[in-house]
Amino acid sequence: MTVLENDTIAAISTPPGSAGIGKIRISGGSSIEIAASIFRSIKGKDLRKARTYTAHYGHIVNPENGKIVDEVICIVFREPHSFTGENVVEIDCHGGTLPLQKVLELILSNGAKLAEPGEFSKRAFLNGRIDLTQAEGIMEVINSKTEKSLDLAINHLSGKLSEKIKEIKDKVIALYAHLEASIDFPEDEIEGFDSSVLEKRLKNIKAQLEELISTSKEGIIYREGLKSVIVGRPNVGKSSLLNTLLEDKRTIVTDIPGTTRDAIEEYLNIEGIPLRIIDTAGIRKTEDLVEKIGVEKTEKYLKEADLVLMMIDISQGLGKDDIRIYELVKNKPLIILVNKTDLDPDFDYSEIEEKFKNHSLLKISVKEERGIKELKEAIINEVLGENIRRTDEEILISRTRHKIALEKALKAIERVIDSHRQELPYDFYTIDLRYCLDALGEITGETLTEDIIDRIFSDFCLGK
Ligand code: GDP
Repeated sequence: MTVLENDTIAAISTPPGSAGIGKIRISGGSSIEIAASIFRSIKGKDLRKARTYTAHYGHIVNPENGKIVDEVICIVFREPHSFTGENVVEIDCHGGTLPLQKVLELILSNGAKLAEPGEFSKRAFLNGRIDLTQAEGIMEVINSKTEKSLDLAINHLSGKLSEKIKEIKDKVIALYAHLEASIDFPEDEIEGFDSSVLEKRLKNIKAQLEELISTSKEGIIYREGLKSVIVGRPNVGKSSLLNTLLEDKRTIVTDIPGTTRDAIEEYLNIEGIPLRIIDTAGIRKTEDLVEKIGVEKTEKYLKEADLVLMMIDISQGLGKDDIRIYELVKNKPLIILVNKTDLDPDFDYSEIEEKFKNHSLLKISVKEERGIKELKEAIINEVLGENIRRTDEEILISRTRHKIALEKALKAIERVIDSHRQELPYDFYTIDLRYCLDALGEITGETLTEDIIDRIFSDFCLGK
């Protein structure tokens, strides 16, 4: 697999909209040449002779008519000391959409091609600057929703996950080498490599894989956020709850448009877990989700939801409508919120508690802000369940792609353990060890096919 040699790519690397500066990135064999052909340095310097890591002040000039398009700073990175490993020029323009577009057009008409989404990162990967987990880490950093997700993303970016995978791989390789040697030279007893040692080493690898896999539930939630929905009949207090949660401005995280999603999405930060209330605005406006938008659409929302908060109003008691809504959501991860507890201190909860005994149930008063802290704890318990929170853990598996590969690796190791129990010949083991190595290699990208790599990078955003 090679990068299309000398194919020079360019894209606007900052988000759309007005800003102080906007950056255009050019990468490839001709990037410095192309930039030089449209750049006029104030000091009369030639960009072609610029050293690496130098910044140059001047104008972008249309070579056809000599017209100045923008005032810019060009930063030159010579290969291999750049993000992509190729010659790179970054042009800091003024941040309006029009100047950026004009400069980009000039670059394209002078020999570069428009970069595809993720193409810069893909080149960095193909040129061996970063591995796949690090490339994915870049996207995670960009899309982080809470500080905790950012910490995890930075760990991935800096290669902590790759190191861990490499550590496991090295153990598998060592084992593989020993077994191969035993197959090739059966009469030579290899020192310190008897059956019990072999089993111990296999079990150790198995335990490490299991440990990593067990972090994935939490890791995926930190990265993707949790889609949740508040349901309940009119006037139970849904909007009030939402407003209370939103009031605490520190808990709100806003996704910037133009990255991977089109719309602005708001996330509540529940102790580091990004919680997205689906159709926040919609619920705030409509009286009742089910009534106003129809059962069909509600069902669609519910289907997408990772968590449902269902509210009941004690001043109304448990009615037919509550039961109807409950029937729709009962199979989802569900928290029952019994609201307006301030209205009746002597309320008899036995019927409600009996009906919902299989779910977590909280007695709250949104008005008096009672039970809100407990609600946050309940959300964490409901979504992570038995999983211990690993807030101090450095590496959490945050992608389904990684989890699947680890599960493949684990199955392969389990097969080796099985072969060992059945005292099968070593040839059987080595096949599965190879399989395990391939699965681990998929995570860092060494053993992936080109089309899968293309697909992974196409999820990246433009200019990255
Ligand atoms: P929604 O239709 O489910 O969104 O309900 P709202 O949030 O609009 O609340 C309906 C009414 O109940 C409003 O007048 C709220 O002030 C009131 N309300 C909400 N929560 C409580 C509570 O805990 N106690 C009391 N007494 N009133 C509440």
